[in-house]
Amino acid sequence: MPIDDPYKRKIAAYHLLAKHLICRKCGAHNPIKAVKCRLCRSKDLRPKRRERSK
Ligand SMILES: [Zn+2]
Repeated sequence: MPIDDPYKRKIAAYHLLAKHLICRKCGAHNPIKAVKCRLCRSKDLRPKRRERSK
């Protein structure tokens, strides 16, 4: 069921990104509550959003 409304799609994308952590080591997506990467067990996770970069 495709989302035709670009505005809704944008919101959906935002929430998808905001609820995930990306593993710096292997690039896997992890739940926002994850402490360790579900693939490689690395603790080096970062939010998808760029708030903490630099
Ligand atoms: Zn990983």
